[in-house]
Amino acid sequence: MKRMDDTGKPTVDALHRRGLMFILSSPSGAGKTTIARMLLQHDPAIRMSISATTRPMRPGEVDGQDYIFVDQAEFNRMVADEQFLEWATVFGNSYGTPKAQVKAGLREGQDFLFDIDWQGTQQLYQKLETDVVRVFLLPPSIDELRRRLTGRGTDAPEVIQARMDRARAEISHWDGYDYVVVNDDIDRCFAKVSQILAAERMKRARQTGLIGFVRGLMAD
Ligand code: ADP
Ligand code: 5GP
Repeated sequence: MKRMDDTGKPTVDALHRRGLMFILSSPSGAGKTTIARMLLQHDPAIRMSISATTRPMRPGEVDGQDYIFVDQAEFNRMVADEQFLEWATVFGNSYGTPKAQVKAGLREGQDFLFDIDWQGTQQLYQKLETDVVRVFLLPPSIDELRRRLTGRGTDAPEVIQARMDRARAEISHWDGYDYVVVNDDIDRCFAKVSQILAAERMKRARQTGLIGFVRGLMAD
């Protein structure tokens, strides 16, 4: 982000802003991983919140990058030590958002992207309501959702069936989100999600440097 103009004067972008927590949820296969990757690629100002999980590592995943992989005893210890902002059991495994990285980052103006389910979204909203932006992606149809899960080629047929069985239950949580976007065309969906992020960054309450800036304007 450009913080100085050509004469070295600070630009409006340099005004201090509190970071936000940008949550992307969807039924499995609707495209949240794809949209999250596009956001991270195009927007250097947002960083992924890396969850801890007890689920086994999948081929190609990197510990500390995709997840912090821990066993159940370690996860339980982290819960007892109150190290999580939220945690939940999904598909029989435990997942949690570590507190430390996020809390300090938000104060410094760092935005975080979350790929978490509706249970985690509810918990984060209850704790940090004003920092949270909740976005839910829907597939254009149930048939297309099945096609995407099959086409992704990462899951056995019985896993795909389990994900399809859960899809309706996940979709039923659509009304717990601030924004709902149908992921029909990937570029259109990405453009809409980017616009949501841009607008949320401009919210008055997040621009903590505005008071001083406006005082300066009045005094000039
Ligand atoms: P999720 O993270 O929600 O489980 P993914 O991002 O892994 O979903 O997407 C599932 C599959 O669907 C992937 O193979 C992805 O490339 C594909 N996909 C995502 N969005 C679209 C889209 N708009 N049109 C067609 N295919 C898509
Ligand atoms: P996967 O095992 O496929 O990576 O993720 C399974 C589900 O767990 C997804 O719906 C994902 O959004 C959710 N998830 C991942 N990390 C967390 C987390 O820290 N908290 C919660 N509540 N859900 C998570």
